Amino acid sequence: MSAPRNEEGQGHVFVIAAPSGTGKTTICRRILEEDEGLEISVSHTTRSPRGGEEDGVHYHFVSGKSFRALAVSDGFLEHAEYGGNAYGTSWSAIEVPLESGRDVVLEIEVQGAAQVRERRPDACLVFLLPPSLESLEERLRGRGTDEESVIERRMALVDRELAAAKIFDFAIVNDDLETAVQQVLEVVAAVRAGREDTIEGVYGQSGVLTRWNRQINAQG
Ligand code: ADP
Ligand code: 5GP
Repeated sequence: MSAPRNEEGQGHVFVIAAPSGTGKTTICRRILEEDEGLEISVSHTTRSPRGGEEDGVHYHFVSGKSFRALAVSDGFLEHAEYGGNAYGTSWSAIEVPLESGRDVVLEIEVQGAAQVRERRPDACLVFLLPPSLESLEERLRGRGTDEESVIERRMALVDRELAAAKIFDFAIVNDDLETAVQQVLEVVAAVRAGREDTIEGVYGQSGVLTRWNRQINAQG
C-alpha cells in the first residue's frame, strides 16, 4: 500500500496528541460533533477493549500477530508501542476520508505523531496540555478506566511526551473544555483556509509551551 498523494482538493490530516488523561478523546468527540467535515481515523491496537468500547468503532482490536503482519506489509502510516500495547494508524484509516475530500483526525501518542510528521509533512499537529500535572493525574483517576499501575505508568511517560511537543505546530491548554474545543476548531478553520499565520501568535506551539512552563514553575 502506498501513501495517499497530497493533491489539490484532498482533505487535511490533523493529529491531536497529549499526555494520557489530558482530554484528547473528549475533545475529539466534541469537535467531530461540531464539524461534519471531520472524520476520525480508527486505529488498530493490541490492547483489550475497555467497557463500552466497540471493535471497529473505537479501535480495531487485533492480536499481536495480526498487528505485526500489518506492520511488516507497510500497512501503517505510523505505529508505536505505548504502555505495553501496540497502536497504529493504517493507511486505509486515512485514505477513505481523504480521497473523498474530508479532513481526518488522528488521536495518537507522540511517537506516532513524529512518524506522521515524516511521512505526511503537510499534516497539522496539535498538542493538548493539561492545566497542571496535578489536574492530569486527577483526570486519569477520575476517568475510572485504568488501574493504579496503569496510571503510574502513564504519568511516568509525561516528561517524554512534553519534550516531544516541540515537533508540533500548535498547542492548546485544555482547562475549560468548551473553550479548548472552540480553540481546536479555530485551528482547523485556519488550516482549511490556508491561514495558519493568523493563529501562530496565539496557538503557535513554542509560545504556548513557554507560557505553560512558566505557569507550571510558578505553581512550584
Ligand atoms: P485522553 O483521551 O487524553 O486520555 P480523556 O478524554 O479520556 O483523555 O479525558 C480524561 C478525563 O478527563 C475524562 O474523565 C474526561 O471527562 C475529563 N476531562 C476532559 N477534559 C476535561 C476538562 N477540560 N476539564 C475537566 N475534566 C476533563
Ligand atoms: P488508550 O489505551 O488510552 O486508548 O490509548 C493510549 C495512547 O495511545 C493514547 O495516547 C492514544 O492517543 C494513543 N493511540 C491511540 N491510537 C493510536 C495510534 O493509532 N497510533 C499511536 N501512535 N497512538 C495511538
